[in-house]
Amino acid sequence: MTITHKADSFNININGPILCGYPLWHRCTLQIGGPADYYCIPENEQDLKILLTSGAASGIPFLTLGSGSNILLADKGVRGMVIDTRNFTDSRMEGHTLILGAGLEASAAAWTSASSGLQGLEFLFGMPGTIGGALWMNARCYGAEIADIFEWADIINPNGTVQRLPFNAAQWSYKRSPFQNSDAVILRGAFRTTAGNPAQLRQTMLHHYQNRLSKGHYSAPCAGSAFKNNRDFGSPSGKIIEDCGLKGLQIGRAAISHQHANIFINTGGASASDFLQLLNTTADKVEQNTGFRLEPEIVLAGEWQTTDQRAGK
Ligand SMILES: Cc1cc2nc3c(=O)[nH]c(=O)nc-3n(C[C@H](O)[C@H](O)[C@H](O)COP(=O)(O)OP(=O)(O)OC[C@H]3O[C@@H](n4cnc5c(N)ncnc54)[C@H](O)[C@@H]3O)c2cc1C
Repeated sequence: MTITHKADSFNININGPILCGYPLWHRCTLQIGGPADYYCIPENEQDLKILLTSGAASGIPFLTLGSGSNILLADKGVRGMVIDTRNFTDSRMEGHTLILGAGLEASAAAWTSASSGLQGLEFLFGMPGTIGGALWMNARCYGAEIADIFEWADIINPNGTVQRLPFNAAQWSYKRSPFQNSDAVILRGAFRTTAGNPAQLRQTMLHHYQNRLSKGHYSAPCAGSAFKNNRDFGSPSGKIIEDCGLKGLQIGRAAISHQHANIFINTGGASASDFLQLLNTTADKVEQNTGFRLEPEIVLAGEWQTTDQRAGK
């Protein structure tokens, strides 16, 4: 497939498909978002390298997309390339280290590894998203986070160089990872495991899944927690939002879930602008009531209207 970019005769030829004007709303769990100029699905590392280096040489920006389960994409869409990591699904064991491709679904990887008697990834079961997204977000749930099991990751920089990034505790904290400070694409991650009992591990995972079901995680399009939890605020964000009387608040077709006040949902046909306004209004009202400014957990990406005000400060 070839991209020809009229403005500066940008030309790329890769094996995987490149879809022009591809609607992003059905590539993210919120089901919101306009078109990508070029939606690229590299078939392999060589394709990805070509995309990154040619894009960089021609000044074409890019956004990496995993499963789109933690992202709010603008109504006007994304300029430049969106790079879909679905084909980066290599996996192997080296001793007790499990090496997983960035495009693998984290939940499925957790189930498969537990079924093989490898303990460590159970907390990820039931959480939407890829291994790449979980690494970038330092995904956290059920008392564990990616940093607890992370050993190293292979990344590819926009200039095409591949680099191995070892664990450095100073670079990791609550919902923070070193990948957030770079524009590299994560290719794969290596995770520490120990021996475990498959039946027990599966039981733990099913328990997590039931807990998510009871919180309504899967009952409407959402992107997980809208705001990060901040220990300094004394309570989880959902409790703070609920105590401010905001549960059920709706702007346009975006609403705060009646089941859990830190889950913001698309009730059907919500725009990114509705959703952003709901984030902003909630953060403003909580700040007025408590003095605390909640920090959004959902990543905003794409081309926003100049009138759109970013959530957070
Ligand atoms: C129902 C539901 C429940 C959830 N529960 C939790 C939870 O309990 N805990 C939690 O932490 N999160 C939770 N989330 C949020 C989300 O599932 C995680 O953050 C997940 O790790 C995001 O992965 P993704 O592949 O969907 O990333 P995306 O949403 O596609 O991307 C998120 C960010 O990661 C970057 N990125 C993705 N892949 C790569 C890559 N290969 N290289 C470089 N950058 C990359 C993107 O550019 C973007 O900035 C939940 C979401 C939903 C919808």
